[in-house]
Amino acid sequence: MYGTRVAVLGAGIVGAACARELALAGLEVTVVDRGAAASATTAHGEGNVLVSDKGPGPELELAQFSRRLWPQVLDTIAERSGRAADAVEWEPKGGIVVATTDAGARELVRFAAAQRAAGVRAEVLDADGLAEAEPYVTPAHTAALHYPQDAQVQPAAAAAALLGDALAAGATLGTGREVLGAVTRGGRLTGIRTSAGLLEADLFVNAAGPWAGELAARLGAPVDVRPRRGDILVTTPLPPMVFHKVYDADYVGAVGSSAEELQTSAVVESTRGGSVLIGSSRRRVGFDDRLRPEVLSVVAAKALRLFPTLAGVPVMRAYGGFRPYVPDHLPVIGADPRLAGLWHASGHEGAGIGLSVGTARLLRCLILGEPTDMDATPFRVDRPAVLGEHAHPANGARPASSAHSASSGRPASSASPAGSAHPASSAHPASEETA
Ligand SMILES: Cc1cc2nc3c(=O)[nH]c(=O)nc-3n(C[C@H](O)[C@H](O)[C@H](O)COP(=O)(O)OP(=O)(O)OC[C@H]3O[C@@H](n4cnc5c(N)ncnc54)[C@H](O)[C@@H]3O)c2cc1C
Repeated sequence: MYGTRVAVLGAGIVGAACARELALAGLEVTVVDRGAAASATTAHGEGNVLVSDKGPGPELELAQFSRRLWPQVLDTIAERSGRAADAVEWEPKGGIVVATTDAGARELVRFAAAQRAAGVRAEVLDADGLAEAEPYVTPAHTAALHYPQDAQVQPAAAAAALLGDALAAGATLGTGREVLGAVTRGGRLTGIRTSAGLLEADLFVNAAGPWAGELAARLGAPVDVRPRRGDILVTTPLPPMVFHKVYDADYVGAVGSSAEELQTSAVVESTRGGSVLIGSSRRRVGFDDRLRPEVLSVVAAKALRLFPTLAGVPVMRAYGGFRPYVPDHLPVIGADPRLAGLWHASGHEGAGIGLSVGTARLLRCLILGEPTDMDATPFRVDRPAVLGEHAHPANGARPASSAHSASSGRPASSASPAGSAHPASSAHPASEETA
């Protein structure tokens, strides 16, 4: 495979991590993005590297794998550039989940027991332990769990550092270059038409985040990846008052829900600069990027229940982004069975920062035909959630050949409602050339 030309389509954290792995493996990597590197979803979320919000199943396994990889990846980045590694703001600070109702406490304890059986460290905190760990958290809690494996990064800096490694290993980056359509030869993807001309390669990796569905449709092989909006409030820099990633026990249910309507829960964390990030919300509203006061006010109210002392702090701004959502809440990682030469690395929803490095390692092993560190089949492209009712047969999708049941393992996850396909109408048909 040495010298194989790979085009990574999308320079968010997932594309950056994939470019790094493939360039370090000796492949000839070109990364293209219609915007700037790390300027889309990766710059519009938070930077939690979590195991605490995932129940037993393939997503938790990928999170545990990624959590093991992050320190190793950062060590190699530090060897190249201490400054780049430092900018990532890696903080293995741990997470704390707090229940404020009896029902929430029961569910949290049950969930943690299942996680422990899957190798997650989840330690019960009594009232004194919680007060010591988080002195400003509400005393009106019914249970609290400490997850020491949870960590945090600055996402855009993490993506830049991963991309920096890729470039140092010989990759090239073309920004301001939109992927418009495919060039195929003998049923194989051999090139892409971009706003800056034709780009030929042996392999193409769709790492277009929430636009992965749209980009895949442009290449003639649509996948069902859609946007799921989330908004965050940012305080001015504050004296230290939040020491872990702290969230209410409802969060796990909100993450696992497939509902289109607004889901909110309190998620609070500080950053190295002193600002506190207050989330989180989930809405399926297409690519509507308007900030909604009714969403922000619910998010703020829930955060105040968790941290009453936040009531008096100034909020300096709010922002939001689009999580890349797949109806079964699992990422899409692997070769496209319909179009030779096309690979996918997308659909990480609210966990793409944490999962990026594990995804990239899996993709590298799959491309090189090497054994993978974990079972990658739950993420494969030809599963019903990816090629099911929302894929567009007219654009090349075929029904999944061998149905494989996969689940994110979260509680309260429900089937996606029908009839809400993302618009793939901007598809540019593939042009076929004969050799
Ligand atoms: C509010 C919020 C909070 C979040 N918090 C966390 C968190 O704490 N922890 C966590 O792990 N994850 C979190 N996430 C999720 C995480 O941000 C995403 O999963 C991750 O950033 C996805 O990265 P990506 O590289 O796949 O996508 P992106 O960063 O969106 O990158 C995709 C790139 O593809 C490019 N592109 C798209 N279409 C084309 C085209 N046609 N041609 C060329 N280029 C194209 C885009 O310009 C973009 O740069 C959060 C997300 C949100 C919205």
